[in-house]
Amino acid sequence: MDLAAKDKKYVWHPFTQMKDWAKEDILVIERGEGSYLIDTQGRRYLDGVSSLWCNVHGHQVPEIDQAIEDQLGKIAHTTFLGLTHPSAILLAEKLVKLNPGLSRVFYSDSGSEAVEIALKMAFQYWQHRGLRKKSKFVRLKHAYHGDTIGAVSVGGMDLFHEIFHPLLFKCFEAPSPYVYRWPKGGPPVKVRDGALSALESILKKNHREIAALIMEPLIQGAAGMITQPKGYISAVRKLTRRYNVLLIFDEVATGFGRTGTMFAYEQERAVPDLLTLAKGLTGGYLPLAATLASEEIYKAFLGNYKEFKAFFHGHTFTANPLACRAAIASLELFEKRGLLDLIQKRIAQTQKRWAAFKELSIVGDIRQAGLMIGIELVQNQKTKQSFDLKEQIGVQVIRRARAKGLILRPLGSVIVLMPVLSMSEEEVEKLLDITYESIKETNDSLSVFRRRGSVLRRKSLRL
Ligand SMILES: *Cc1c(COP(=O)(O)O)cnc(C)c1O
Repeated sequence: MDLAAKDKKYVWHPFTQMKDWAKEDILVIERGEGSYLIDTQGRRYLDGVSSLWCNVHGHQVPEIDQAIEDQLGKIAHTTFLGLTHPSAILLAEKLVKLNPGLSRVFYSDSGSEAVEIALKMAFQYWQHRGLRKKSKFVRLKHAYHGDTIGAVSVGGMDLFHEIFHPLLFKCFEAPSPYVYRWPKGGPPVKVRDGALSALESILKKNHREIAALIMEPLIQGAAGMITQPKGYISAVRKLTRRYNVLLIFDEVATGFGRTGTMFAYEQERAVPDLLTLAKGLTGGYLPLAATLASEEIYKAFLGNYKEFKAFFHGHTFTANPLACRAAIASLELFEKRGLLDLIQKRIAQTQKRWAAFKELSIVGDIRQAGLMIGIELVQNQKTKQSFDLKEQIGVQVIRRARAKGLILRPLGSVIVLMPVLSMSEEEVEKLLDITYESIKETNDSLSVFRRRGSVLRRKSLRL
């Protein structure tokens, strides 16, 4: 039996309808080289979504490989419960220095877990402060913060979350400042102010029972790459302070250069009380996450042992040394390669191309925060009518892209572009060329279909 057949026999894949998978021509990725993925048949694909939004410097980066080897020469794993080790200590120092205003690093293994930890810390903080009623959370509409039960509770994506409804805790939901689909329409400033005033009403009325607001800053990723108007997150920071509500920024996707700055919140100097990091933390090499907390939150957990104020959370592989060492190497490469400056060039390069994309009649909206890009496909540019999810329009586009040597993964009708941050100018050009051609072919095949449909209708009318 070949590997693909064994996969279909033994494996259950995430977020996948396995009945379709069984029929698909699946790719078995065996190697990576820079911005490319190489399958068992030796075919090369550009990694257009950074191996699910996490790859930073490419695959098989000599410096990161070496760092992991060095760590392997010492120890692969030791517990962080009751012991400590150099890589975790030095990484924590680096993370705190990158985030002045936050002072403590709590490690975990995935973005979902970093979110669980932030929620539990926010809740427990208010318990220790004696404000026991402050136990609820506010989320944004469409939000995605991971797929464990707590993270799903603060999520607002019905497709993923609806079925688990009986298991979830209730949240307040504030509107997302989604300019393209704001019900009353209007310019970004109006949408921003509308979303802020709705948030303020929630806070004003309920702040006595709200522990924290959780959101992704600048852009909601898995929600469909929904960018936020300028001034939104700094205003959110002010509102949460005014109403004595903690602010959790989930930078699992936006962190580590993705939006053009090391962290998205820097762009509006809106420092949160809790910050979650994961995907790009190890350069996309190994599973590692972190929740950073302010000194004020941290201090509320200090006390005599018998007060039981400790934070009771921690997993077997918390702060795994190999992962921590990879993360240190990745952060060193940011400096060594001047990656944040290079990213600015790549951002400018992509922006030059959008005018041509927008001429394709199924392209409704193009949204971008740095190198986090969403192209929303619609049936009708004027009415903004969406495609039925069942049409799998995004899948149609990515199938075409794959045949041309580019790996993408859509979010429903939104084509996601998440280039590896270290991609060269030529690679980014290729990514955009293939994406354009794939959308254009899909667009053209639909209009042929539409034309035929209308001819048929006319004929039947005549009969
Ligand atoms: C991916 C993601 C998560 C979940 O991270 P995992 O490592 O997949 O558990 C949480 N929040 C945001 C914003 C994400 O993009």
